[in-house]
Amino acid sequence: MAGGVVIVGAGEAGVGAAFALRANGFAGAVTLIGEETEIPYERPPLSKQVLGGGALKPIRAEADYHTADIALISGRKVRRLHRDTHEVEFGGGDRLAYDRLLLATGAAPRRLAVPGAEQGPIHYLRDARDAFALRAALGPTRRLAIVGGGLIGLEVAAAARALGAAVTVLEAGPRLLGRGVPVEMAEVLTRTHRDNGVRLEVDRHLAEIVWRGGVAELVCTDGSGTLADLVVVAIGVVPRTELAAEAGLALDNGIAVDAELRSSDATIYAAGDCCSVPHPLFDGRRLRLESWQNAQELGQLAALNLMGGRQSVEHVPWMWSDQYELGLYIAGMPTAGTVTVARSDAHRRLLFHLDAAGRLVGASGIGPASAASRDIRIAQRLIARRAAPDPALLADPAASLKALLSPLLASAG
Ligand SMILES: Cc1cc2nc3c(=O)[nH]c(=O)nc-3n(C[C@H](O)[C@H](O)[C@H](O)COP(=O)(O)OP(=O)(O)OC[C@H]3O[C@@H](n4cnc5c(N)ncnc54)[C@H](O)[C@@H]3O)c2cc1C
Repeated sequence: MAGGVVIVGAGEAGVGAAFALRANGFAGAVTLIGEETEIPYERPPLSKQVLGGGALKPIRAEADYHTADIALISGRKVRRLHRDTHEVEFGGGDRLAYDRLLLATGAAPRRLAVPGAEQGPIHYLRDARDAFALRAALGPTRRLAIVGGGLIGLEVAAAARALGAAVTVLEAGPRLLGRGVPVEMAEVLTRTHRDNGVRLEVDRHLAEIVWRGGVAELVCTDGSGTLADLVVVAIGVVPRTELAAEAGLALDNGIAVDAELRSSDATIYAAGDCCSVPHPLFDGRRLRLESWQNAQELGQLAALNLMGGRQSVEHVPWMWSDQYELGLYIAGMPTAGTVTVARSDAHRRLLFHLDAAGRLVGASGIGPASAASRDIRIAQRLIARRAAPDPALLADPAASLKALLSPLLASAG
């Protein structure tokens, strides 16, 4: 292979794909291009440990790239794809040839579009630079306003409270975590944030930000105002599709790939936050997930298919969030459920989401640290096996979830 595999985007999906190519015996050239200058690092700690003073966590040690013969090109942005000549073009105009290309360009924070949003020091949180800038600003901050009550906004709130800031969260929706987190789980986190002194305001639509002497007033459409020394905006992300769009690849809430991660150009694949995939577990529904595990799984699957494999996506979505002492875990798609079965014990609250046919399609759990993690992992395996467990057993804290799984594993041979 003259050009080998070129991967644009050295995040979780891109790095995972590069190492999976080698792990699966790919002998051609592997080039991994990232515009960031750091050795590729994990993003989840940015809103948790890093804001609290911790270091970046590399995805792989620097030496591993040499050992695996992966050419890592850091600090360079790919500006254009030339599908006709199978080349990527860098900012400086130089080009690199590929036989197969993987786009793993991730996502970028959705920008706030109200008057005043571009006038003052507003923080977003996606990369290491954002995290270090926010951390430096948080130190002396007395009043922090966070626009957006989703997972990132709330993780920032928890980290800022630990640093002693007075925190207000402004959420436009009727509740926190309205996208994909079951209401009962969101209520537990809402209570926990209130108990920790966070002011939570829902149904607040920001109209403008007025800056006076370095102080922001966040004015909402209902006339209410919140004063802040520092503003963080966490209103979701948009997939980074600019290269794909300009090259004429099909888009559909991200780069549209098939279940084997192939784009509308058979030599170009995509993985991670930047793409949407028809998922066989959810009736072929096109999903664009924004989670660490999804980026890893898709990166690994892309590697197999870049080598000529024909495997379809099949992993069950999984994500987590840490806030204060609590760990939230979600597997599958709770929103695809029509019936919810709850189970509680002294350490955790679990919800199982069943579809109309009684099939388990989602599960969520919350408890101190990783108390709910193991149960949701078991649920994840039940979802993968399209199990329809007895709701009475799911609800009974004395019934072993693992026992529900065993017969399915045995019948699978
Ligand atoms: C602060 C934060 C906390 C998170 N916490 C959690 C969590 O607790 N649990 C969870 O499950 N998930 C969490 N996530 C989500 C998870 O980290 C992402 O889903 C995952 O990182 C996506 O990986 P990716 O490889 O698709 O994209 P990214 O990690 O975004 O990597 C894409 C890379 O491509 C680079 N790039 C883009 N375009 C170009 C170009 N043209 N040329 C060169 N390079 C380019 C970008 O600079 C970036 O480095 C969190 C994310 C953030 C930001």
